Amino acid sequence: MKQRITLLGATGSIGQNTLAVMANTPERFELFAATANGNVDAMVAICEQHQPQFAVMADEAAASQLRERISSLPRKTEVLSGSQALADVASAAEVDSVMAAIVGAAGLLPTMAAVQAGKRVLLANKEALVMSGQLFMDAVAHYGAELLPIDSEHNAIYQCLPSEVQQPLGHADLASAGIHQILLTGSGGPFRQLPIAELALQTPAAACNHPNWSMGQKISVDSATMLNKGLEYIEARWLFNCRPDQLQVVVHPQSVIHSMVSYIDGSVLAQLGQPDMRTPIAYGLGYPERIHSGVQPLDFMQIAELTFLPAEPQRYPCLQLAIDACWEGQWATTTLNAANEIAVAAFLAERIPFTAIAQVCDRVLQQITAGQLSSIEALIDLDQQARQLAQQHVERMQ
Ligand code: NAD
Ligand code: MG
Repeated sequence: MKQRITLLGATGSIGQNTLAVMANTPERFELFAATANGNVDAMVAICEQHQPQFAVMADEAAASQLRERISSLPRKTEVLSGSQALADVASAAEVDSVMAAIVGAAGLLPTMAAVQAGKRVLLANKEALVMSGQLFMDAVAHYGAELLPIDSEHNAIYQCLPSEVQQPLGHADLASAGIHQILLTGSGGPFRQLPIAELALQTPAAACNHPNWSMGQKISVDSATMLNKGLEYIEARWLFNCRPDQLQVVVHPQSVIHSMVSYIDGSVLAQLGQPDMRTPIAYGLGYPERIHSGVQPLDFMQIAELTFLPAEPQRYPCLQLAIDACWEGQWATTTLNAANEIAVAAFLAERIPFTAIAQVCDRVLQQITAGQLSSIEALIDLDQQARQLAQQHVERMQ
């Protein structure tokens, strides 16, 4: 039987790569539903090529455009809109696996819907986990969902872990499993070697020009600030149940090693490969089997060298903000994530300079007071509050 997939965020970078991997082995996979924010052209192409049963757009205006554009296709795709439809296609009884590839906090509710329906969840949307950490992992355990990390670092770590830590994910004691540390690698982004005084002058185009990976705009800017590594640090803390001394960030400019696990006997296991998201996507889609991803094998004769260095705190202030927030508590990571989304959008719109992203995040974190967050509704309220504060800072900076 074919594995039926709901693809949340089908028109994005992860979404398109997922469709490419699925198309390599059409006998294995069937697209049940595809969702997108507003890109009707891209969704028309997906409906033509992959013929999902459902297509969901964020709003009804986009949905009605799509309905008209695909009305003459031989196989009917039902077009829906809105957040309830997103949750419905993520939790439908017919679905086996849900690829969570919406960007940002917008992905939280549909990803949660998939978790609560006990699906296999292929998690690319790191912001959902950063926002809801403990609640998310508790829901995974409670509803018996199966979580497979797609973020390349976490996928690499997952591949290097013993089975008692892999399943159920997020509950094992790393030290008892013989693990000394998890080493999270990151390239350092496009500004790794730029004089720090020039950071403030960088344009969105320069920030999105990642040396190794081709990704959506938001995560590309996050890679330039290294807040992406900070979000991944928080993501790793939850996925692998890490203590502060069990998690370390290492800058590795070539992006050949995608992360490592260091064991107490001195062994270090690493996962290596091309910087191409089709590899972790194929791992998640095929699990526990290995399937073709379309990625070329690594050619070690072409890799001149692998280098490693620490992340400079003055160059990447966002990374430390995230590490501090991780151990402060859920309120801090939810706040940081929301403030960053506003700041990155303002930077991409050329309203604030690159270096103001860290300033906005820092100020909002200082304004919000610590508190317990015991429900998704409380998280979403806090997210909204942090966004408003961030927006005020952006306006004051102009
Ligand atoms: P992208 O911007 O290319 O695509 C985002 C997708 O989400 C699009 O399909 C868009 O239509 C949809 N979307 C955006 N806002 C929405 C909203 N409000 N409601 C509904 N749908 C919405 O992003 P991406 O680079 O594919 O990243 C997706 C997620 O995967 C992010 O969380 C990112 O951190 C993570 N991720 C991406 C990569 C990568 O290589 N691109 C690697 C690791 C992790
Ligand atoms: Mg990553």
